[in-house]
Amino acid sequence: MPAPPEPAGRLSESLLAFWADAGVDAMLLDEPVDRIAAGRIAAPRPPERKAPAVAASSPARPAQPDVSGAVAEAWALAAQAKTLEALAEAIAAFDGCALKFEGSASQAVVYRGDPKAPLMVIGEGPGQDEDRQGQPFVGRAGQLLDRMLAAAGLSERVLITNTVFWRPPGNRTPTPSEQAVCAPFVERAIALVQPKLLLLAGGASAKAMLKKDEGILSLRGRWFEWRSSDGSLEVPALPTLHPAFLLRQPAAKKRAWSDLLTLTERLDRQDRPA
Ligand code: URA
Repeated sequence: MPAPPEPAGRLSESLLAFWADAGVDAMLLDEPVDRIAAGRIAAPRPPERKAPAVAASSPARPAQPDVSGAVAEAWALAAQAKTLEALAEAIAAFDGCALKFEGSASQAVVYRGDPKAPLMVIGEGPGQDEDRQGQPFVGRAGQLLDRMLAAAGLSERVLITNTVFWRPPGNRTPTPSEQAVCAPFVERAIALVQPKLLLLAGGASAKAMLKKDEGILSLRGRWFEWRSSDGSLEVPALPTLHPAFLLRQPAAKKRAWSDLLTLTERLDRQDRPA
């Protein structure tokens, strides 16, 4: 018997998630298009009642808040941390990231894995399971990530963290300002671990870490050089599809698997004696 059709709500939800993961994060073009002048749609009839006035200067996108003070404080705190444990404590005590106070985070989620790992995986931000357990990537997406890392022989060679350390409300994507406030801690974690390679899981991680505007479907599988802000540290970085995306789009798993094999091959090549 054929499978019953998917309910329309589930289909549109999954399509929206697909677009978001692919980097489509706005339904508007940068410049307004006058489709009436272009003759594509009929001019609207005048409204019967006067619409309330809208400020002419309303921005198309909400401006990012000024987080420069919080970023400066994060740099100072991060620099003082001499170990990953000290860094995790500094993050937990830090009040500069708005996510901490938005009601969905009960604790800071910083890292799990080997503090001397040759590979660092950087995801987007903690979800509900991560917030409950205080560790990154422990929910369904994390379990898939673990299975993939195990199959590639990387389980014992990895440290896992995120671009932000508090769960965003409704598991939304962290904003660039939230990522900017947490970036000094991420950078300090990289400096303390000294990984040989970075795996950037998902568009929000790849774009923030590499300062790119392209979507993950175009970034994934290509090598980039991640650089610390002062230029003293460089680590090869490979963007890949987020495991949560793979759970929704299983057909994409083969691309993520191919990324992981590319990464493992480079890691093993670096580990081999010359
Ligand atoms: N998704 C992420 O990007 N990070 C986590 O820790 C969990 C889910």
